[in-house]
Amino acid sequence: MPISFYEARQQILDTVPTLAIEKVSLFDAAGRAVAEDIVATQPLPAFNNSAMDGYAVRVADCAIGTILPVVGYLPAGKTSTTTGKPGTVVRVMTGAPIPSGADAVVPFEDCKEEADKITILRTVKKGDHTRWAGEDIRPGDKIIAAGTLLRPAEISLLASLRLGTILVHRRVRVAILATGDELQEIDELPFNGGIVDSNTSALAAAVQEVGAIPLLLGIARDNLTDLREKIKEGLQADVLITSAGVSAGDRDLVREVLEEFGIKEIFWKLRIKPGHPTAFGMDNDTPVFSLPGNPVATLLTFEEFVRPALLKMMGHNSVFKTLYRATLTEPIKKKKGRLQILRVSVRINQDGEMVVSSAGDQNTGILRTLVDAQGIALLADDRDFFAAGEKIDIHLLGASTAL
Ligand code: AMP
Ligand code: MG
Repeated sequence: MPISFYEARQQILDTVPTLAIEKVSLFDAAGRAVAEDIVATQPLPAFNNSAMDGYAVRVADCAIGTILPVVGYLPAGKTSTTTGKPGTVVRVMTGAPIPSGADAVVPFEDCKEEADKITILRTVKKGDHTRWAGEDIRPGDKIIAAGTLLRPAEISLLASLRLGTILVHRRVRVAILATGDELQEIDELPFNGGIVDSNTSALAAAVQEVGAIPLLLGIARDNLTDLREKIKEGLQADVLITSAGVSAGDRDLVREVLEEFGIKEIFWKLRIKPGHPTAFGMDNDTPVFSLPGNPVATLLTFEEFVRPALLKMMGHNSVFKTLYRATLTEPIKKKKGRLQILRVSVRINQDGEMVVSSAGDQNTGILRTLVDAQGIALLADDRDFFAAGEKIDIHLLGASTAL
């Protein structure tokens, strides 16, 4: 009995393991999930410093018109002990430590500068143009929770705190196997009836997009010998993804071979379109996704089922894409009984609202509609009609889709 889209997703996420933790340099950490709660052990900034090029002053000395002697000079990276006395100022560059006793910085443009003295031209307030130690981060602050995706911002913070190595989960190594007698390598001479294996390239790209590592097994022909050999190799990886050969055709032998290898099948066949024949099983700790062969179905089932699984395995606490409420600009008809993975074009209208429409012919054979789509709507299996003007949930496809 085919299960629902959401049951399938839940079963996958309940089953896949989280991979081991490793220590990596910050340079290899971007795009991965941190595997530990990060607590600051030092303040940021580490010391009081100037936010401008100017003069470190004591606010109490700075009535407008006051003339004050310049008794020192501090570029960034230098410190001095002879400075900061009442009634004097120290020339400081941005990032230079503020001499103890000083409590504001007067930028060059707010004073008149002469040889070794300045005249205050504007009101000075305590803390002007200063960065106080710990005003950004205090020691003991919990700054990044385990499972958080490391973006350039988090990397910047970690580097600022002198954390040059960090614990992350291992990248998933994902074996990718195309199956089919009709398939050709991309650079082979076309023959009549030959189909280029595009799924290998597509899946490798999708695997890389989530920060996992693709391992290409190539093409297995639709016979037991070839499938056994390649599937055996694929099971050495952390995850095996096969495409095609999982419907009920007489050449659809993938599940038969997986069963021979003792893979525990968790489901086969979903109440979705496209992607109906998708299968999922476990070889001990190794998830095996048997995706349909049709290139649109392959990528859509990867997006909705495999992507969240790989993210979970790599320790991400957020594995689903953000859902946006968008307004349908046209009616959509579908059949009841299956959830439709609808490829939508997404626009922001003149009022700043997100609006969506079908990205084109929704036939599973039409790859162009996937290329023209910026997003996906999951249309509920128990409905057959969505009216223009109705609000639906969508998520975006890809990492940097322009709307
Ligand atoms: P199957 O599930 O084996 O019946 O395949 C479904 C459809 O997807 C057929 O039209 C296949 O030719 C096509 N197909 C299967 N594998 C690939 C692949 N790796 N690249 C492109 N098309 C494929
Ligand atoms: Mg086939």
